[in-house]
Amino acid sequence: MNHILEEIKDAKTIGISGHVRPDGDCVGSCLALYHYLKGNLSGDTGVDLYLEAVPEKFKIIGNTEMVKQKNSSEIKYDLFISLDSSSPDRLGFAQEYFDNACRTINIDHHISNLNFADTNQVEAEAGSTCEVLFGLFEEDKIDLTIAKALYLGIIHDTGVFKHSNTSEKTMNIAGKLISMGVPFSQMIDETFYLMTYHQSQILGRCLLESILILGGKCIVSSVSKKTLEFYNSVPADLDGIIDQLRITQGVEVAVFLYETDFHEYKVSMRANQAVDVRKIAVHFGGGGHIKAAGCTMHGAIYDVVNNLAAHIEHQLSNLTREQGSEY
Ligand code: AMP
Ligand code: MN
Ligand code: MN
Repeated sequence: MNHILEEIKDAKTIGISGHVRPDGDCVGSCLALYHYLKGNLSGDTGVDLYLEAVPEKFKIIGNTEMVKQKNSSEIKYDLFISLDSSSPDRLGFAQEYFDNACRTINIDHHISNLNFADTNQVEAEAGSTCEVLFGLFEEDKIDLTIAKALYLGIIHDTGVFKHSNTSEKTMNIAGKLISMGVPFSQMIDETFYLMTYHQSQILGRCLLESILILGGKCIVSSVSKKTLEFYNSVPADLDGIIDQLRITQGVEVAVFLYETDFHEYKVSMRANQAVDVRKIAVHFGGGGHIKAAGCTMHGAIYDVVNNLAAHIEHQLSNLTREQGSEY
């Protein structure tokens, strides 16, 4: 075992969790590590995995029924492992178990990661936490469930090998997972591209209502709580809208917001070339990567958008000055 996993051997009780509103990399990395530990540690080691509700489409991995939601009793784990989370508060309800644990490990790939655990394995150049995990695992101990979980995380965080975080290493790992029998076509179609009718309707509405600002360099769209309820949808149904906004010609930054409470918005940002959206997200208390970041903001939507736009404009104008040309 790798040195990090070596530390795990002595723990008799282990807790695992990932970030709130779990995405493919969060679910994939949590399930991959859970099954790897269950398969390779002695039978009397207790391993618990905590996550907010796992989106139905991710259950294609199989063996997802052990995921636990909030436990009311106080628990003190020998070891707690945080995955795909840049700070402990991203763990949501599971932060309490992390804070109470005797030892902690943080495995992640966010450049904004705060290195908040006793042991930190943060690889900012990795395209996904699943890619980091693959490097920690012994290949001959990866079964089909683990391989599917890792593949899920890799395809979701790289936008199916399209984002700039895709490397030769990413492709080599994906190749190995495919050779282990991962049903890659089905997984890509059913977890990444497939949409319900309502999801398509909301996507269409967001595109129709989107606005271009900053001379066409920034596109913004939003969904209110009322709209989400009207379509009987949940935030996970909004996945992919930001990616569609980003590929609008001429756009440098795409901003997508959805209302989580009165005057409270979850903000997603994606950049094409020029802007570091992580910087902006961090400024507003969030985090992420240079080209994909998010945060939660409060206030009227016009103020939220204006505040974000000021930061985007600032970066765009710095760039214009640096390049000495119209940008
Ligand atoms: P999203 O726009 O939610 O898909 O997130 C894009 C990236 O930013 C992901 O890597 C997230 O983990 C990260 N991120 C999103 N929201 C937050 C937040 N409130 N705090 C820290 N990181 C975030
Ligand atoms: Mn994630
Ligand atoms: Mn990730």
